[in-house]
Amino acid sequence: MIPDLIQELDANDSLAHKYHDFVIDSSIAYMDGNSLGPLTTFAQARTVEVVQQQWGGDLISSWNKHNWIDLPLSVGDKIAPIIGAAKGQVVCCDSVSVNIFKLLSSALALQPDRDIIVSLDDNFPTDLYMAQGMSRLLGSERCVLETLSIDRLLARLDSSVAVLLLTEVNFRSGERLDMRAITQAAHAHDIMVIWDLSHSTGAVPLELDACEVDFAVGCGYKFLNGGPGAPAFIYLNERWADKVEQALCGWMGHAAPFEFDPEYQAAKGVRKFLSGTPNILSLAALDASLEVFDGLAMEQLRDKSIALSELFLQLIEQAEELASLRCISPRDPHKRGSQLSFAHPDAFAICQALIANGVIADFRAPDLLRFGFTPLYQRYADIWVVVEKLKEIMTSGSYHQPEFQRRGKVT
Ligand SMILES: *Cc1c(COP(=O)(O)O)cnc(C)c1O
Repeated sequence: MIPDLIQELDANDSLAHKYHDFVIDSSIAYMDGNSLGPLTTFAQARTVEVVQQQWGGDLISSWNKHNWIDLPLSVGDKIAPIIGAAKGQVVCCDSVSVNIFKLLSSALALQPDRDIIVSLDDNFPTDLYMAQGMSRLLGSERCVLETLSIDRLLARLDSSVAVLLLTEVNFRSGERLDMRAITQAAHAHDIMVIWDLSHSTGAVPLELDACEVDFAVGCGYKFLNGGPGAPAFIYLNERWADKVEQALCGWMGHAAPFEFDPEYQAAKGVRKFLSGTPNILSLAALDASLEVFDGLAMEQLRDKSIALSELFLQLIEQAEELASLRCISPRDPHKRGSQLSFAHPDAFAICQALIANGVIADFRAPDLLRFGFTPLYQRYADIWVVVEKLKEIMTSGSYHQPEFQRRGKVT
């Protein structure tokens, strides 16, 4: 029985109606929208339409007739208000990894006398891998990656650093960095900053323009619910629009791709970050899913996200049987994104047992159990159910069963 207090929270929830925009089995509690957002009813309908009417019926004329050709920019303009950006500065394409490579090439070209990329030891590995690849390609005279811990970051910033590559919300701990203060500190030394917003976009209010961010990337398939492998995005601050170049300069980023000019000439502004032909099916799904954010204030979403995670923590802290779960996320909700992570030596098996019991959480090696908070489709009652199931699993020790120890390719 769900306690009255929890039922009341749901009854008074001004975002409750959004639940119906999603296709979710009501018997499960989905706590993994930070890894893969669920299907929206909008994407479900649009995908069918694009496949049947546009691709199936109108074929190649759809590039003009259905404006496929401008989809990367029109989807970018829908993402812009979610990240605090004026229109015309966001393009939707490729993956976060590939987009980081492009932005690193742009930032380094703007810093001909500097060769150091600074990032954090615990950044998402693909961000570091792309910087390592750039360093191997350009050689150590032109590009060196240095990583350090967050407490040493500000002291390291000086005029030898070309680029700062940071992720705003850490994928393991959920710790959120101070975008405004760090960007300002970097700019005091003319360092370019690339922010990775994969765990931030659609989860927390952002103010990219107001913080004078240079460049950013973000993910389409997490809190934006664009679908598996949905395209990522690039934000290019307008002040750099005509000053930057990028290395993966394919025909779709050309000023006039259908002139088939043998010489590359970059398109104006953020369009130059396109490389090849856009992935229309995925872009269309993301475009449709963004309707969920229409007219929504990110602060309203954030308030509910904090309320959900605080309720979760409170219920966990009250439960003696859950004392072995050690919360590694910041205790202050304003210092974290929209997730909570707990360390436990059996985190993998506990996560598998939760999944078998209708609670979809995830595991991050080596020992983290991670819960994402997604106010658009989570109910307070879900939070209560998750903690009850977790208590059952921990008390009974059911997670010790052999079937919960087996690891697939994706964990
Ligand atoms: C999810 C995530 C990515 C994903 O990168 P892709 O290349 O799009 O798979 C990158 N960086 C961070 C911080 C992420 O959380």
